Parts: sequence; structure tokens; C-alpha cells
Amino acid sequence: KLYNQVQDLKGSIRVYCRVRPFLSGQSNNLSTVDNIEDGNITISTASRHGKGCKSFSFNKVFEPCATQAEVFSDMQPLIRSVLDGYNVCIFAYGQTGSGKTYTMGPKDLSEKNKGVNYRALGDLFLLAEQRKDIFCYNVAVQMIEIYNEQVRDLLVTDGKIRNSSQTGLNVPDANIIPVSSTDDVIDLMNLGQRNRVVGATALNDRSSRSHSCLTVHVQGRDLASGATLRGCMHLVDLAGSERVNKSEVTGDRLKEAQHINKSLSALGDVIASLAQKNPHVPYRNSKLTQLLQDSLGGQAKTLMFVHISPEPDALGETISTLKFAERVA
Ligand code: ADP
Ligand code: MG
Repeated sequence: KLYNQVQDLKGSIRVYCRVRPFLSGQSNNLSTVDNIEDGNITISTASRHGKGCKSFSFNKVFEPCATQAEVFSDMQPLIRSVLDGYNVCIFAYGQTGSGKTYTMGPKDLSEKNKGVNYRALGDLFLLAEQRKDIFCYNVAVQMIEIYNEQVRDLLVTDGKIRNSSQTGLNVPDANIIPVSSTDDVIDLMNLGQRNRVVGATALNDRSSRSHSCLTVHVQGRDLASGATLRGCMHLVDLAGSERVNKSEVTGDRLKEAQHINKSLSALGDVIASLAQKNPHVPYRNSKLTQLLQDSLGGQAKTLMFVHISPEPDALGETISTLKFAERVA
């Protein structure tokens, strides 16, 4: 018990890999995933150049058949630590179409399909309720998008800023809105989603080329002593990690790709240097890592879900995703 508490104080970085199942209509396809065992995944790199395979290790690997409930199953300690005053970051990383948004949620709220966001919030409000004789909690959310290194507030309805006095993300003027139930948060996430779409051009699905971050701020007052604590949880659906071929894209698309590339490698650099206990952590190299600085490292807890697609077409991206993830694990 004591050992666990000591571990807790140190903060932690965990990396989980999730393999998307083939989608309906994709039968008769051969998966590039050769084997999954404990925290190890083996990818078959067989091609016309010959046979081969490559193995990677993570804290956990979820098979294509893993349910949303299983994926969420051991996250309760993280939620509890937010209510104890710690900061938590949960990231979804992977190429477009690999299942990042499916893991995080919240479009489909059925019991089977609801994602990490919804389940985490449900747990958060439940635990807060269970502690109501000891703590009085206030919960507020922010939702932002980072596109081409520019931050945009997604919780704007009428151009009005409803910023409470609570310290929020380091985003000037981003709304921070008090909530009292999971449904309140879902309403705000839907608003944020609509605001994201408004910013998208007809041809571009902007959601795959921007990072979106839902931040849940928790302030707790100890009813006995009057002392307050603050914790927050960032739920980040990252931009698609696929590399673009520089000879094939130009103009805005190339610029987008370069920004994404730069910010994902900056995130990788930060997490890798934290994992290696490197005294210098390069937070300042991207907007994302600047904004999350207080929630990455120190006593904060980080969970990265890396997603891969099973199709042979995706092999190159799958290997580069797993290499990225192994570096931060
Ligand atoms: P991304 O956000 O990484 O671009 P999505 O989450 O949108 O990818 O997933 C692409 C498609 O695959 C969606 O239709 C989604 O519903 C489906 N999908 C992803 N992961 C799973 C899964 N684990 N089980 C069933 N369907 C999934
Ligand atoms: Mg997505």
C-alpha cells in the first residue's frame, strides 16, 4: 500500500497499444499483426522482398476484439488521482483511420461503444459523489483545438467569453465552463465538435489534421480543514500521424503536414525525455507541449494510447507508429 503511494507520487508514463479490427466489408484481408502476447506485439513485415517480422513492447496491447470497457478497465486509479489533486494527460496517437476517436469517444454513447472520455467523466462524477461528505468538488471544462500551431477555443457560442476565476489551461481567453454531470460535458463536447466542423473547409476533414483537447478541471475543498486542491485531466485526440509524401502535396496541405509532424515529434521528445529522467525537457518546441507543460512530468500521470490499423497497406505507418511509441514507453 505504502509502496503504491510512493509510486503514485512519482508520476508515471504508460503506453498502451490498440489494434483496430478490420472494418465490415474488409473480409479476406490478411492482418499485418502476427502475434499479441502480454505487452508484446509482433508485426509481419513480409513483402515481395522477403519474410520478416518485428516485435515491440508496451505496458499493454489490446487485441482487435478488445471492448471499450476492457480498454477503460484499469483507468480508475487515474481518475481517482485527478480528484486527489494530480494532473493527468491521456493521448490518442495513430494514423488517420486507426481508431483514435473511437477510443476517446464520444459520438456513440451506447453502453458498448462509448469511449474513454465518457467513461472517465462518469467515473469522475461518481467518485466525487462518493466523497461528498469529505470534499466539495467543482468541475469545469475547456475544449480547444490546435491547428497549424494556432490555438482555437471550441467552446464559443455567441462570441462571449465565460471565463471563471479558476486557473485553466494556459490559453488566453478560452472559455472554462462549470459542469455538474457527464451530460453537461457531453453537451459541451458536441458544441466543440460543431465548432470544429465550422472551421473545416469542404475538402479537408480538419479533425484529422488538428489536435483536440478536452480539459476537465477539478477543484476540491476539504470540508474539515477548508484546504483546497486542484487537479486536471486532459483528453487529447491527436492529429493523424501519417507522413505525407513531400513530392505529392503542396501549399496548405504541406504546411499542415509540417506543423503536425513538428508537434508530434515535439510531444515524443518531451515524453521520451521524461521517461529517461532527462533533466532538460523540451516543452517549448510546440504549442501542444507548452499548453500541457504542467500536466506532463513531475507528479503528473500520462497515458498514451497508440493505435494501429491491421491492413497491409498501412504497414509503413504501423511500423513508424510503433517506433514512435516504443521510444516514449
Ligand atoms: P481516427 O480517429 O484515428 O481517424 P476513427 O476512430 O475515426 O479513426 O476510426 C476509423 C473507423 O474505424 C471508424 O468508422 C470507427 O468507428 C472504426 N473503428 C475504430 N476502432 C474500432 C474498434 N476498436 N472497433 C470497431 N470499430 C472501430
Ligand atoms: Mg479521429
